[in-house]
Amino acid sequence: MIGGSINKNGLLKVRATRIGQDTALAQIVRLVEEAQGSKAPVQRLADRVAAVFVPAVIIIAIATFLFWYLVGFDLFGNMPAPRFIFSLTAFISVLVIACPCALGLATPTAIMVGTGKGAENGILIKNGEALERAGNVQVIVFDKTGTLTKGEPDVTDLMPIDGSENELLFLAASIEKGSEHPLAKAIVRRAEHMKVDIESPIDFQNLPGRGVKATVGGSIVLLGNRTLMNESKIATDAHEADIQSIEEKGRTAMLLAKDSRLIGIIGVADVVKPTSAEAIAELKRMNIEVVMLTGDNRRTAAVIAKELGIDRVLAEVLPEDKAKEIAKLQTEGKVVAMVGDGINDAPALVKADVGIAIGSGTDVAIESGSIVLIKNDLKDVVAAIQLSKRTMRKIRQNLFWAFGYNTAGIPLAAGLIFPFFNVLLPPIIAAGAMALSSVSVVSNAALLKRYTPEIKREGKR
Ligand code: ADP
Ligand code: MG
Repeated sequence: MIGGSINKNGLLKVRATRIGQDTALAQIVRLVEEAQGSKAPVQRLADRVAAVFVPAVIIIAIATFLFWYLVGFDLFGNMPAPRFIFSLTAFISVLVIACPCALGLATPTAIMVGTGKGAENGILIKNGEALERAGNVQVIVFDKTGTLTKGEPDVTDLMPIDGSENELLFLAASIEKGSEHPLAKAIVRRAEHMKVDIESPIDFQNLPGRGVKATVGGSIVLLGNRTLMNESKIATDAHEADIQSIEEKGRTAMLLAKDSRLIGIIGVADVVKPTSAEAIAELKRMNIEVVMLTGDNRRTAAVIAKELGIDRVLAEVLPEDKAKEIAKLQTEGKVVAMVGDGINDAPALVKADVGIAIGSGTDVAIESGSIVLIKNDLKDVVAAIQLSKRTMRKIRQNLFWAFGYNTAGIPLAAGLIFPFFNVLLPPIIAAGAMALSSVSVVSNAALLKRYTPEIKREGKR
């Protein structure tokens, strides 16, 4: 239970493991607040403009005053005010109308509304930078297990080579008892289901991206993929046909070896999430390249990729190499986003330009991502990109309006129309125009509140 919940009927016994500041809700609030206060890179542009703009305006104001006081006043007869008052009025009007407060408001207001909108849709954006970059993503890399697929695999094949199904399951479940991997959980669950008693493994070793190793019932047992078997010099060739028949169905084949001999093969299937294919189709429509990155074997990965319409697959990637694959894509000059859920995805999430973590994933992944999807639905990846694009558009509009108002107002305030109409912009009107530009910028940003990412709209294809 992570927050407000409804108990419809029955008794609920709840033990709070975290309270107050440590609850999921408080963490979400903190993330959103931090993001709303953070600067997007585009803000630096506004800051740079303001840094030049402010001194320039002061110089223009002084020049205006000097011009009217020393030269301009004498050029025209019938002046509406005394020399000093007239020059001072023009000076003040320039300062007032050019006040760059709208320029300062342009980005932060849009970021604030944008991140808030994200949170409303179950997309936690940790900072303005992530919000800005998400819209520019050119390649999205998805982890397979737990990201594209549900990550709740089921045992589908039990092929003993030596011994019975129950013995196979006994050894496999006993060794996997020590592992947290989704594949391990599938095997333990199956053993429990079939009422096979299991032992606790001794000298348990987790070999990331390969499998597990331990002593069970006095024998050294290995369970994992081909790489693991090859490393231990255990021949698998004789059973290659069986292994491939499992993999060709999009399932993961796990090999079990006891005392350096292959004694069985276990097939595990993980179904894809119902919305993954739709999300990928939409990304492709947006001209974003989609890549699958997985530690699983090439054949299984290819079947799942085909089912989802993913063309580029990087399979059999060891956990430590996932970040390197991201770096490789970045050297192709592309803006890369990584979507993942596991501990093995964390370095890649950090390395990517935008790291998107699945909220139901491991804490490490959530900590490493700059965007967190609460709802475990990949359509939210699309929504995050759409929201980012919309927010950036708002920011650009805002900057244009803020800057436009000010620059257009300066010549007016300085008295450029005086020779033609015999009027000088009164400081009160200048102040009104200045305030109006702030109001228009803030209201424009607030309009973002009414925005719903296209993919989330009702009746969407
Ligand atoms: P992914 O990138 O899809 O999340 P991992 O890097 O966690 O996958 O694992 C890659 C491969 O290593 C798995 O497909 C499996 O063959 C093997 N493997 C990893 N952990 C285990 C385990 N606990 N038991 C058996 N095999 C494992
Ligand atoms: Mg995973």
